[in-house]
Amino acid sequence: MRLKYLELSGFKSFAKKTKLDFATPITAVVGPNGSGKSNVAEAFRWVLGEQSLKSLRGKRGEDLIFNGAGSTTRMNRASVSVCFNNTERQFNLDYDEVIITRSVSRDGINEYRINGSVVRLKDVIELLSGVSLGSAGHHIISQGEADRILNATLAERREMLEEALGLKIYHWKLAESEKKLVRTKDNIKQVESLRREIAPHLKFLKKQMEKVAQADEMRRNLKQLYLVYFKIEEKYLIDTKTLLNNQLSEPSHELKVVSARIDQLTNTLDIKDSTNEHQKLLLELERKLRELQQLKDDLSRQLGRIEGIIEVKSESLASEEKSEVRIDLKEVEQIAGEVNRQASLADSQSDPSILKKIIYDIRDAITKLTARYSLSIDNRSDKEAALILAQNEKQIIADKIEAILEEEVEVEKRITDTKVLINQEKDSVIDVEREFYELKVKRGELVRTVDILKEKLDQLIHQEADFKRELAEAAVLVDREVLRYNTLDLAEENSTNQTVNQEERRRQIERFKIKLEDMGLEGADVAVEYKEAIKRDEFLANELADLYKAATSLGQVMVELRDKLTVEFKVGISKINSEFGKFFSLMFGGGTGALQIVKETKRRKSSLVFLSEEDGFDEESEEEGIDINVSLPRKKIKGLQMLSGGERALTSIALLFAMSQVNPPPFLILDETDAALDEANSRKYSNMIENLSKQSQLILITHNRETMSSAGILYGVTMGGDGVSKLLSIKFGEAESYAK
Ligand code: ATP
Repeated sequence: MRLKYLELSGFKSFAKKTKLDFATPITAVVGPNGSGKSNVAEAFRWVLGEQSLKSLRGKRGEDLIFNGAGSTTRMNRASVSVCFNNTERQFNLDYDEVIITRSVSRDGINEYRINGSVVRLKDVIELLSGVSLGSAGHHIISQGEADRILNATLAERREMLEEALGLKIYHWKLAESEKKLVRTKDNIKQVESLRREIAPHLKFLKKQMEKVAQADEMRRNLKQLYLVYFKIEEKYLIDTKTLLNNQLSEPSHELKVVSARIDQLTNTLDIKDSTNEHQKLLLELERKLRELQQLKDDLSRQLGRIEGIIEVKSESLASEEKSEVRIDLKEVEQIAGEVNRQASLADSQSDPSILKKIIYDIRDAITKLTARYSLSIDNRSDKEAALILAQNEKQIIADKIEAILEEEVEVEKRITDTKVLINQEKDSVIDVEREFYELKVKRGELVRTVDILKEKLDQLIHQEADFKRELAEAAVLVDREVLRYNTLDLAEENSTNQTVNQEERRRQIERFKIKLEDMGLEGADVAVEYKEAIKRDEFLANELADLYKAATSLGQVMVELRDKLTVEFKVGISKINSEFGKFFSLMFGGGTGALQIVKETKRRKSSLVFLSEEDGFDEESEEEGIDINVSLPRKKIKGLQMLSGGERALTSIALLFAMSQVNPPPFLILDETDAALDEANSRKYSNMIENLSKQSQLILITHNRETMSSAGILYGVTMGGDGVSKLLSIKFGEAESYAK
C-alpha cells in the first residue's frame, strides 16, 4: 500500500484546495513557524477519524474550518481527503484506490465518505483497523509529542502498542462481539419474558383443548343419540300422519254428505213455508166468518126491531077492516115470466153465491109488485101500509140473514178444509225437520271429530317443524352427518339404545346440549389458537435456543479473541523489545531499553446493584500495562523520569522505530520529532528514517537539514498576509531557506 495524496480544502489555514502528492517514500514539509505545517499533520489525524478536538488544537468543530484572515473571508466547510493505493487490496475493498474523506460544516455536521459514498465513522474505523491505523495515533507523532509514549500511562501505552502491532482489530472485534452479546442477552431476556407471558395462555388453551376433547366426545355421543332419535321421530311423524289422514277421511266424507243433505233439507223447509199461504187464507176466512157473524147479528137485531114494529102494527090493525085490491094480470104475468127466466137461469148454475143472487132478484121482483099494490090502495090506512112495509122489510132482512147463514156455512166449510190442509202440511214439515235436526246433531259430531283430527294434524305439523328445526340445530351443533339418519339401521343399533324410549332420548339430548352450551367452546377456534400458540412458543423456544447458541459462540469467540490478543500481544512485545534494544543501543551507543508487561491492580465500584451506596465495595481487577525499562550506557540512570529532554526524545524515537519495524504502518507522520536532537543524533535519526522508509511511507515536518536531506519530495508551506497557507514543491537547496 502506498499513500498517494492528501487534499485539503477549507481546513484550518488551508483555505484553498491544496493537494500534497506522496510519490516518494519520504516527503518533507518545511516552512516557517506558523505557516500551517502542523495543520497538514492534523489534517491526516482528522481525516482518519480523530474525535478529540483537543488533539487537533480546537475547541469546537468550527475551529477546523478556515476562519478567514485579513481580506480573505471565512469558509463554511472544511474537507480533507486521503487517498491510498489499494491495488494489493490491503483494504478490504474491491477498489484500486481508497479515498477517505471527512468534512465538517459550520452547523457542526460531520460527514465521512469512502470512495464518495457516505459512511459512518464506525465504517472508517473498521476499514483502518485492518491496516493498523487507529485512533491511538502511534503513526502520527504531533509536534512536541515525540515522547508522548513515554508520558503515557501503562494502559495508554498498551493501547498504542496494540495499535502499532495491528491488534486493534481484535479489540474492535471484541467490542463488536460484546455489543452483540449484550444485544443477544437482551433478546434472550425479551424472548424469555415473551415465553413467560404466553405460558399461562398456553396452559389455559391446553385446558381448553382438553375440554374441547370432552366436548367432541360428547358430540359423538350426542350424534349417536340424534341419529336414533331422528330415525324414530321421523317414522313416528310419518305413521301418525298417515293414521290421522286415514282417520280423517271417513268423517270428512260423511260430513260432506250430511252437509249436502242438510242443505237439501234447508231448501225443502224453505218451500214448506208455503204453509204460510194457507195460514193466511185461514186467517182471511176466519176474519170473513167473523164479519158475517157480525153482519148476521146486526140483521138479527134489525129483524127483532122490525118484528116488534110488525107486532105493534098488526095489533092495531086487528080491529080494523081489511079492504080489497085489484091486481093487473099483465103485471102478474110479467112477474111470473121474470121468475121463470131466473129459475131457468138457476138450473144451469152450481155456484151457491150466484144461485143466491138469483133468489134475491126473484124475491125482489115479487116484493116490488106487492109493495106497489099496497101503496096504490088509496084508502088503506097508513097503519096497514106501514105494516106491509115493515113486513116487506122483515122479509128482506130475513132473506139477508138467510143468505148470510148460507155464506157462513160456506166459509166454515172452507175454514175446515184449509185447516185440514194446514194440518196435513204440518205433519209433512215435522218429518223433514226431524231429519234436519238429527242431521244437524250428526254434523256437529262429525265436525267435532274432524276438528279433533285436524287439530292433531296441526300439532303434527308443529312437530314436523320442530323436527326440522332440531335437525338443522343438530347439523350445526354436531355435524352434518346427523342429516343422514335415514341410513341408520335401527336393528343394528344397540338394543339398550332402542329400549330407551324417545322421551328419555329427548331428555338426554337436551342434557348434552346444555352441557355443550355451558362449555361454550368453539373447538375449531380453540384448536387454531392453541396450534398458533404452540407454534409461537416453539418458535420462541427455537429462537431462544439459537440465541443461547449465539451467546455461547459469541462468548467463545470473545475468549478466542482475548487469547489471541494476549498471545499476539506477548509475541509482538517480544519482537518490539528485540528491535527496541537494537535501536536504543544504536541511538545511545550502548545501554539497554526494554518493554515489560506489568499488571496493574485497579479498584473500581462493583457493578453489582446494592441496596445503598454504603453497601457497595470496591472491586479489584488486574489490568495489563506496559512499562519501559531503560539503562543508559555509562550512567546509572534507570527511570524514565530521570532522562533529559534529548534522551527522552531518543528513547521514544527508538521505541517508535522499533514499533514501526515490527509492524510497519502504511505511513508515519513525524511532526518535528527531531526538534530536540543535536547534530550527531540528527544524523543517526536521518539514517534510521531512511531505513524505516523501506517499510513505511514517511511524512516529516521538520526544520532539520539532516532530515530534509533524506526526503525525496520537499513541500514548502508559506503563509502570506492573507493568513492562507500555500503549498509549493521546492528543491533541497531552497528548503533550508523555506524552513526559516
Ligand atoms: P511551527 O513551525 O511553529 O510549528 P507550523 O507551520 O506548524 O508552525 P501551524 O501550527 O500548522 O504552523 O499553523 C498554525 C497557523 O494556522 C496559525 O497561524 C493559525 O492562525 C492558523 N490557523 C489555525 N486554525 C485556523 C483556522 N481555523 N482558520 C485560519 N487559520 C487557522
